[in-house]
Amino acid sequence: PFEVLVIGGGPAGAASAIYAARKGIRTGVAAERFGGQVLDTMDIENFISVSRTEGPKLASALEAHVKDYDVEIMNLQKAAKLIPSKIEGGYHEVVLENGASLKGRTLILSTGARWRQMGVPGEEEYRNKGVAYCPHCDGPLFKGKRVAVIGGGNSGVEAAIDLAGIVAHVTLVEYDSQLRADAVLQRKLASLPNVKIITSALTTKVDGNGERVTGLSYKDRNHGTEHDVELEGIFVQIGLVPNTEWLKDAIALSPRGEIEIDARGETSQPGIFAAGDCTTVPYKQIVIAMGAGSTAALSAFDYLIRLPAS
Ligand code: FAD
Repeated sequence: PFEVLVIGGGPAGAASAIYAARKGIRTGVAAERFGGQVLDTMDIENFISVSRTEGPKLASALEAHVKDYDVEIMNLQKAAKLIPSKIEGGYHEVVLENGASLKGRTLILSTGARWRQMGVPGEEEYRNKGVAYCPHCDGPLFKGKRVAVIGGGNSGVEAAIDLAGIVAHVTLVEYDSQLRADAVLQRKLASLPNVKIITSALTTKVDGNGERVTGLSYKDRNHGTEHDVELEGIFVQIGLVPNTEWLKDAIALSPRGEIEIDARGETSQPGIFAAGDCTTVPYKQIVIAMGAGSTAALSAFDYLIRLPAS
């Protein structure tokens, strides 16, 4: 059994493991795919102190840094169920999909999240070639170009406002007959000269030239007509889904399924901490996930040193 068992091997999990191991306590990391979302990222330009790097490069640096310490890495292991300890200071159990189980006196849950995809032809093919999911990350790559934002909820409208200040033109495409974002955001959006809003539109296809996105096609849901829009980028903003389905009955989750944590990263269960994109943290970014992972590990250490000697 571990003193600190980390579930998830993205930036949050890697930071947790390093901070825990540096306290000299027995630490393990189980991850479905070590590296996490970073593996799916091309250019990273906001990893502070590194002007520019690439996802796979950062992912291998994360793994190498964790391996500098005495941390047991269990890659390709998917957690399926959490059984919190019934007694304070006892072992929490994590049951893996393959039936095996791991135990930790403290746990750090850092299973991340995934962007909901449109599921239309071309989306996968042009991912990172014009199809993007994170305006904070990729917005500046489209400076002076034309983009669409798919989704008229708060995140879509925020993204459109953000991008309108960087790119030449933004087309916001919403499936419903009206936007769902807060009124104040909608008013702000409507005041911008380089934004066009299209409602009742079902995106049907991402168009490209084999190398990059060249446009998108949508169907007007009122008239059944098909339309094409020429552009260079598409930001899909139809939801970020936390990887927390396996935790439903064990700890408190927000209505969106995010793990509820306090300022120390502690969940509703004593001794169980969480960090990164799977939590209620308001912004989902690499540096933020790393900071949160470090916080969770220091909190886990604080928890451990306060347990009565057994
Ligand atoms: P993740 O990176 O999602 O890692 C989660 C880990 O948990 C993975 O190891 C995963 O395999 C594992 N896992 C999930 N479920 C289970 C389970 N049941 N059992 C065991 N393990 C599990 N951020 C930036 O700051 N800058 C950027 O430029 C940037 N670009 C991005 C581009 C793309 C295409 C994407 C998708 C994201 C981008 N982000 C960027 C966001 C950034 O990648 C995330 O904020 C960050 O990776 C979150 O770290 P995390 O450790 O919380 O989660």
